[in-house]
Amino acid sequence: MQKGEFLYEGKAKRIYATDEAGVFWMEFKDDATAGNGQKRGTIGGKGRINAEITQHVFERLARGGVRTHLLRQESPTVLLVRKLDMFKLEVVVRNIAAGSLVKRIGLKEGIDLPQPIVELYLKDDALGDPLLNDDHVIALGLATEREMVEIKAAARKINDLLRAYFRTAGLLLVDFKLEFGKEDGQIVLGDEVTPDTCRFWDEKTREKLDKDRFRQDLGGVEEAYQEVLRRVVAQNA
Ligand code: ADP
Ligand code: UDP
Repeated sequence: MQKGEFLYEGKAKRIYATDEAGVFWMEFKDDATAGNGQKRGTIGGKGRINAEITQHVFERLARGGVRTHLLRQESPTVLLVRKLDMFKLEVVVRNIAAGSLVKRIGLKEGIDLPQPIVELYLKDDALGDPLLNDDHVIALGLATEREMVEIKAAARKINDLLRAYFRTAGLLLVDFKLEFGKEDGQIVLGDEVTPDTCRFWDEKTREKLDKDRFRQDLGGVEEAYQEVLRRVVAQNA
């Protein structure tokens, strides 16, 4: 597969076309941002680690019956994916209270939620990714009622699969963000699942093993990403 025209650079990845129609070259970067781009830095080895974690996780999800954009890993930092027509939505699933949920509604960090919470945010950096309800999604024409039902059901199913998967690796899946798109009318999981987009806590010590180490200047950021990869690989061995 040949890398084609450069299409888009985001905060964590670069997207290129390829010589095959409908196939994107997704290159994972070491760049890290937090607080809607206010804090910037790099995390050594992150591109390689996140590409590999996403490849393992998406293969597991596909085996569990989830439609994903992943075709294959092309090189240490590159995944080949099917081009999707992306929803301008960030779909967040929460199992344990943390992050913006704690700030916004005052639940104590670390409380087990009685049932998972699914939230939709507008994917718009200029507006600071505001939280949306279903009526907002319809008003903005971001998805139909039916698509929203399907997206939320897919997010809950993915949560069930991933919670069990990471639990076996000794990790609590606190919360995470998904992005979906459409291909031939079907809803498909796109983007990535990595320590950039998930909160992982060690099951025994509750040590943070994700981007919160970068966001909160806790140190040991690269080591945490490496540790998540190590556990994911060990589980797949
Ligand atoms: P951001 O745009 O949030 O800064 P990234 O650096 O991760 O994020 O860039 C990846 C971009 O590619 C995102 O805008 C994401 O929605 C988009 N994307 C992810 N998977 C696909 C896909 N299969 N087809 C088309 N676009 C995708
Ligand atoms: N998240 C993400 N991208 C975003 C916003 C959130 O990947 O633009 C992830 C984040 O890593 C966490 C979950 O979604 O795992 C919930 O994030 P939260 O709403 O708590 O926001 P934060 O305080 O992390 O900005």
